[in-house]
Amino acid sequence: MCAKQARHPKPTKDQATLENFFQVEPEHVIEDPAEPQVPQTKDDLDLETIGERLLERYFSKRIRARGVTIVFYPYKTLKSTVRKRGEIIHIRISDILEDAPPEIILALCSVLCAKIVGEHIPRQENLAYRHYVLSENIQSRVHTVRATRGSKVVVGPVGDVYDLRDSFKRVREQYFDETMQMPTLTWSKKRNVSQWGHYDPDHDTIVVSRIFDHPKVPEYVLDYIVYHELLHIVHPIEMHGARKSVHTKGFKQAEKDFLQFKEANTFLRELSRQRHKYTRNRS
Ligand SMILES: [Zn+2]
Repeated sequence: MCAKQARHPKPTKDQATLENFFQVEPEHVIEDPAEPQVPQTKDDLDLETIGERLLERYFSKRIRARGVTIVFYPYKTLKSTVRKRGEIIHIRISDILEDAPPEIILALCSVLCAKIVGEHIPRQENLAYRHYVLSENIQSRVHTVRATRGSKVVVGPVGDVYDLRDSFKRVREQYFDETMQMPTLTWSKKRNVSQWGHYDPDHDTIVVSRIFDHPKVPEYVLDYIVYHELLHIVHPIEMHGARKSVHTKGFKQAEKDFLQFKEANTFLRELSRQRHKYTRNRS
C-alpha cells in the first residue's frame, strides 16, 4: 500500500549495469510472440571462444581491449553486468543462466558489449535472449533464487504499541475464515512514510511501516492496512492483455467491506497530507 500509488522512481542510468534493462516484464511475451531466429552455431561454443568473438566484433575498432572474460555470478536476480577495467572487459552473468545454450550466452554478451561501446543493440540477439529468459524454466529459477537469496530484513511483529499478530487475528476473525494462514508479519526496519504496507509473495511476508506503531494511530487504521495486504493474498495480480492489475475489481470491492473503511481512509489521507510535519514531530 503506497502513499502515492502513481509514483514510480526512475531507474538510474548506469551504462554498465543493465539490471533494469533485462528485468523483462511479463508483458513482453505479448509484444514479441514470434520465436526469434538465432543464428545457430555448429561448433561447441565455450566461454573462452565467446570472449574471443566478442573481442573481435566489438573491441577492435573505436574501443580497444585485450581480452573479454565471462563468469557466472550468484546474483539475486537475473542480472548481468559488463565493466571495462584497464584493457580487459569483464562480463558477469547471473548463474541462473549457467545451463543456457551458448547461443543465448553469446546473444546476451553481444547486447552487453554493444551497450558498453555505444553501438546499436543487435535486435535478433536481444529478442532471442529475452525470449529465452521468459521461458517457464528460467522464470521459476528466478523465483527460487529470489526466495532463497533475497535479503529481507525481518524485524518482527512486536512493536512498541501494537503487535501485528493481534491485528492479523482480529482481521482474520472479522473478514476471513480460520483456514487463512498467518504470513510472516513484520514492522518495517525504517520509518517508511511513502510505503505503508507491502505483501511479498516470494517470502509470504507482510511488512507494515513502523510509523503505524504509535499510540496516536487508531487500532482500526492498522487493521485496515493489514486487511489491505491480506487481500493481496486472496486477490492476486491479474493480467489484462499487456496490463497488470494489482488492485483488481474484486480487490477494490472487498476492500470496501472493511467496517471503518471511510474513517480509515480519512485518517490515511490526512496522514498523507501532513506526512512531512508528522514525521518531523515523531522523530
Ligand atoms: Zn495494495
